[in-house]
Amino acid sequence: MGKKPPSSDATATTPVTNAPARQRLFLALWPDADVRNRLQALGEQHVDSGRRTRPENLHATLAFLGAVDADTRACVERVAGNIDGQAFSVTLDCLEHRPRQAIVWAAASHVPAALTRLVEQLRAGLMQCRFEPERRPYHLHVTLARKVRRGQTAVAIDPIVWHIGKFVLVESRTYASGASYQVLRSWSLTGSESSQRS
Ligand code: ATP
Ligand code: MG
Repeated sequence: MGKKPPSSDATATTPVTNAPARQRLFLALWPDADVRNRLQALGEQHVDSGRRTRPENLHATLAFLGAVDADTRACVERVAGNIDGQAFSVTLDCLEHRPRQAIVWAAASHVPAALTRLVEQLRAGLMQCRFEPERRPYHLHVTLARKVRRGQTAVAIDPIVWHIGKFVLVESRTYASGASYQVLRSWSLTGSESSQRS
């Protein structure tokens, strides 16, 4: 978001606002092309009602931040940069329908210890940025479709093994056509290919 240059036109009627610009942000795990394609195929195979997530939007949220100002974003980026996390693999092995939220998601029945540690570190760090503590247990999931009113509660699927070597900061914007996400930054986890190269 660039800053507007001051206007030389004294009659200009630029609205004056002291409200700081805010961005709607979240921290997430972002699938590579192969995992993304497999998740898309899973949605196409199993979900025939509601609204499927657009393939480019598929992700697993680690921490939802909401609308934050620039100082808070900087704090979040400092916290993320100080994370000492290990790369890990997670196996998505179950498709679940959550009737209350009318959502279908792909989930992992086993959460690797490195993922639990990553989420714990992020949650502790975010409290330093004055976020409310998140006390709900972390449940990794990738939302495949919304507004799904009926469906089997849980279905075993061909496992999708997802190698995770980084986590990302994402901006969410909402349009009439739905949400659009942009990855703003990413941080490598130790032991990932990218961390070994650097
Ligand atoms: P939309 O809200 O426009 O329908 P969306 O839910 O995909 O689309 P966001 O609301 O910006 O977009 O959410 C971004 C991510 O954060 C999604 O994974 C969403 O499930 C998750 N999320 C949103 N709100 C919360 C919340 N209050 N607590 C936890 N996770 C949330
Ligand atoms: Mg939402």
